Amino acid sequence: MPKNVKNTTFPSLLDLIAPHSCRGCGLTGSILCDRCKKYILKNHQNLCPICKEPNKHGICRNHQNNLPPTFIIGERTELLGVLIHDYKYRSIRALKKPLAELLYHILPTPNPNTIIIPLPTISKHIRSRGLDHTYLIAKNLAKLNSNYHVTKLLLRNKNTVQVGTDLKTRQSQASSAYALNPKYTINPSNTYILLDDVWTTGASLLAATKMLQQAGANHLQIAILALSRLN
Ligand SMILES: [Zn+2]
Ligand SMILES: [Zn+2]
Repeated sequence: MPKNVKNTTFPSLLDLIAPHSCRGCGLTGSILCDRCKKYILKNHQNLCPICKEPNKHGICRNHQNNLPPTFIIGERTELLGVLIHDYKYRSIRALKKPLAELLYHILPTPNPNTIIIPLPTISKHIRSRGLDHTYLIAKNLAKLNSNYHVTKLLLRNKNTVQVGTDLKTRQSQASSAYALNPKYTINPSNTYILLDDVWTTGASLLAATKMLQQAGANHLQIAILALSRLN
């Protein structure tokens, strides 16, 4: 497992020499080998993002009124943390496929017409990273099952970055950050999956959840790559 995770968008020398070596063990052939993929899935435990307690049905009993069923691959530590970091901040595009595959394994079997809604990233970040990371995961998830469809149902209102440190400030910033895309309507009989990379305070996801539920998304789920305890 890589020991040093550098916060840089420049590829390391190793990436240039061996662009298809596993980020977990270094094995040549793919960016995430089957063994490392299995290792992540073996450690998968669905955690309630609010109390961090494991549960089987996407949400614990205490918080089922706060959140729709929420599915998370794991904590943003170890290899999963490295993969998300490399994908998001070092723009290693090839990671979109294995990350989507990992998520696919932990999500419930999709009903026909399950709509994946990527939580929109601010355009400034998309430009500087050179990739729309959540949208690309959504597109790759849809390649794995024909019941999945991707719709940009949410828009980013303006280039607002969450700067507040406490949950209350972040919540009020988040509630004005998103808008429903007027191009689409919500069909209450469809299943919708709101997709994001990391749960930190949950302020963005909670604001977006509320907006979608108020617009009629009665069958809503949340899918997240990782849960961060750094809040
Ligand atoms: Zn490996
Ligand atoms: Zn809970």
